[in-house]
Amino acid sequence: MRILEVKGLKKYFPVKIGLNKTAYVKAIDNIDFFVNEKETLGLVGESGSGKSTTGMAILRLLEPTSGEILFNGKNITKIKQREMQKHRKDMQIVFQDPFASLNPRWKIGKTIGEALEIHKIAKGKDKQRRIDELLDIVGLPSESKNRFPHEFSGGQRQRIGIARALAVNPKFIVCDEPVSALDVSVQAQIINLLNDLKEEFGLSYLFIAHDLGVVRQICDRLAVMYLGKIVEIASTEDIFLKPKHPYTKALLSAVPVADPLAKREEIILSGEMPNPISPPTGCGFRTRCHMATDLCVDSRPNLEQIDNDHQVACHYSDKIGGRKNVEIFAAQTT
Ligand code: ADP
Ligand code: MG
Repeated sequence: MRILEVKGLKKYFPVKIGLNKTAYVKAIDNIDFFVNEKETLGLVGESGSGKSTTGMAILRLLEPTSGEILFNGKNITKIKQREMQKHRKDMQIVFQDPFASLNPRWKIGKTIGEALEIHKIAKGKDKQRRIDELLDIVGLPSESKNRFPHEFSGGQRQRIGIARALAVNPKFIVCDEPVSALDVSVQAQIINLLNDLKEEFGLSYLFIAHDLGVVRQICDRLAVMYLGKIVEIASTEDIFLKPKHPYTKALLSAVPVADPLAKREEIILSGEMPNPISPPTGCGFRTRCHMATDLCVDSRPNLEQIDNDHQVACHYSDKIGGRKNVEIFAAQTT
């Protein structure tokens, strides 16, 4: 059963260029994907590829330009914000920087309690009990509720952000780079917590990250995004062992390996992502791709099924070998 399905989603931001001309930033440009119940789908790609816009648009924190969002089979793309409020209870978001998303003048108990009140989940003594319970679930002592955000470390603040998201008993959580700002040792603790919560509460996640090192530990499948489009989507294992898009291979080259002498194919990404106001003709990745030909200039490759649950958008995907990344996958999954 699919908890979320996104069809042909676009988000264009209008920007003024010159006095009375408007251009459009094609932040997401026609993407399709789904998330199964109790599954974690990773969304990876460099900064600016459209990941956060995707996360915000599916929760309707940003209004999509076009396309459809189905949540539990219900089309929520056009429903009024008031009705959307009911679905917000089931769909939550955890941000990269919990400090920016926590009110600095509110004690933690008030922040978590607010979510319980807005959604009429608990008040009075019940509310207090639920706050204690939530803090316990995320591994914080109950007296945390009487303290302010600045009194906590980055990792603890992320636990608070997770407690607030969990307060309303959601089924689906967008985690937007929840560990990107944390030290590596703390990253692992938060990833473990998210994994445990997923099991315990049967959650589904859309887990956004800019590097493939992090997502491997938590994601069942991965979608690779570049310049507003999904260029490859497959199981985590297939992405690591049989990547079929040159961009995916380049991202994999950047993942550190335990054994630096382990043989693998390096593809160094040079140059910068083009401006999404005026993307290249044909394939969006061609300006940085070592394999690009005239075909890639003239024609845009569609996302096509090449194997069970493996889709890729590249004219030359059949020429891209895999298996060289076995060491990375093996080294990092143990
Ligand atoms: P990511 O999360 O992958 O780093 P974003 O979704 O934040 O990427 O941004 C995708 C693109 O959309 C970027 O080029 C960014 O500059 C642009 N963008 C994001 N928000 C806005 C906005 N409000 N107005 C104009 N452009 C935006
Ligand atoms: Mg982002």
